[in-house]
Amino acid sequence: MLVLPNIYLLKKNVKGANIYVIEESDGITLIDCGFEGSDMGIIEFIESLGSSMEDIKNIVLTHGHPDHVGALPELIDVTDARVYIHENDIGLLEKFTGLSRDKINNLILLKGGENLDILEGTTVIDTPGHTDGSIVLFNPRRKILVTGDVLIVDAKGELSLPKEVYTKDLDKEKESVKKLAEYDFDTILPGHGIPIIDNAKSKYLLFIKTL
Ligand SMILES: [Zn+2]
Ligand SMILES: [Zn+2]
Repeated sequence: MLVLPNIYLLKKNVKGANIYVIEESDGITLIDCGFEGSDMGIIEFIESLGSSMEDIKNIVLTHGHPDHVGALPELIDVTDARVYIHENDIGLLEKFTGLSRDKINNLILLKGGENLDILEGTTVIDTPGHTDGSIVLFNPRRKILVTGDVLIVDAKGELSLPKEVYTKDLDKEKESVKKLAEYDFDTILPGHGIPIIDNAKSKYLLFIKTL
């Protein structure tokens, strides 16, 4: 499903969190990769674009939960992509995938503040709370925020916090959500639920008043 020009949300034959595919002339970026077993759906989709798995240049993991990282072991067998995750979540990734960090080619551990070569420059924002190493991605050119589980969209289409039982530190999580006010965005691509394409900032500003 095309969400925005050259940005897709995968729906078919994948399970777990939202998986976004960003298609650029110099390669493809995958944001999160779903539960174990989602690799087949990802491969089918990449091939439907007329590309191959070798065209994937980046796999960015918003955090280490299994609904976001589960298919990584299968994917790293068929791509040479750089794999990005916050350094504070590499332990969760190891735990939930059974991979050890030295088995992941091109692993890049993030701290927050990095500028990634995606959509002509995408900033990594350190947003701990849901997990210690949860990140949000901000693309200033397209005014997009990719929020992982830091900020999700519920079944009614409303912004929401992730479930408390899966969230390590709710106070930190709320602080991280409020910190996003400083970014100029129109669109939210959440880790769960339907993307908010227009006026996301005004919806977000109303939402944070409730926290
Ligand atoms: Zn999730
Ligand atoms: Zn999560």
